[in-house]
Amino acid sequence: MSAAKPVDISFEFFPPRNEGGEAGLHKTVESLRELRPDYCSVTYGAGGSTRDGTMKTVCKIQSIGVDTAAHLSMGDESKENIGSMLGEYSDAGVRRIVALRGDAASGMGGPSTQYAEQLVRFIRDHSGDHFHVTVAAYPETHPDAVSPEADMEFFKRKVEAGADAAITQYFYNPSAYYDFVERARAAGISVPIIPGIMPITNFQSLARFSERAGADVPRWLGKRLESMEDDAAGLQEFGLNVVSKLCEELIANGVPGLHFYTLNRAKATKAIVHNLGLRQPAA
Ligand code: FAD
Repeated sequence: MSAAKPVDISFEFFPPRNEGGEAGLHKTVESLRELRPDYCSVTYGAGGSTRDGTMKTVCKIQSIGVDTAAHLSMGDESKENIGSMLGEYSDAGVRRIVALRGDAASGMGGPSTQYAEQLVRFIRDHSGDHFHVTVAAYPETHPDAVSPEADMEFFKRKVEAGADAAITQYFYNPSAYYDFVERARAAGISVPIIPGIMPITNFQSLARFSERAGADVPRWLGKRLESMEDDAAGLQEFGLNVVSKLCEELIANGVPGLHFYTLNRAKATKAIVHNLGLRQPAA
């Protein structure tokens, strides 16, 4: 396989929960760094549960010379606290924020009433143009949305509040992405909409996570993966082919970039990028 043209690539991580996770993430970052990503990003736990871990991980990756985005949601934090986090990120040389509403942490009630739009607005009021701000987008419609039209309207509002780009929830049906981009352009939204890519390495966890996230695993794909549950190597090879083909098609259709949900592991993402011929490791 070969790429039609170069596209930006970015890698998403979550903050490690313990020392073992920290060592593992360090190895993953070192390995993926060879692919010269345009940037990496680090998630923010629901309700601010990873506030310190996210900050530490973002600043650590940024400090080794990899442009890194901090995911952030307001949750129940005061504006003062959010402002001081923005100040700390700015002092550490961070220039990118992924602004989200976030979901509820388990046992912590419903999701925040602070929509992403409010956070984007706050970031612009507080820090002007210092940060490149990215928001989330949902080609298959956000699970809480009353309709695709309402979801698009709210997407438009958060972009108009000052977002520079959007990254999508992952999908395995590219028609959902093309339809979403077409509707966004028709609604007057012109920012880049970067597909989120979820490598496939395990059926059960993908099915569970997709159910929660409102991401569709098409029947044919689910059935094939389910039938390979006892053949880890076969499933991974099949998953690699499916996701590589998806990315290849997206690139051929002119997507501005690919954002990989790495789940803190390098192997699958690296194999996909290699299949696409997107990046040769630095000499
Ligand atoms: P919003 O854009 O605020 O929208 C949330 C819902 O409310 C939508 O259904 C929307 O239609 C509706 N809505 C928006 N504005 C209004 C309004 N004014 N009135 C009524 N309804 C409204 N989660 C994490 O916890 N941490 C992360 O780090 C994280 N990173 C992510 C990265 C990406 C690229 C993506 C796609 C998702 C990520 N998520 C993360 C998941 C995300 O937090 C959830 O999907 C969350 O439920 C919605 O967040 P949002 O920013 O898209 O919300």
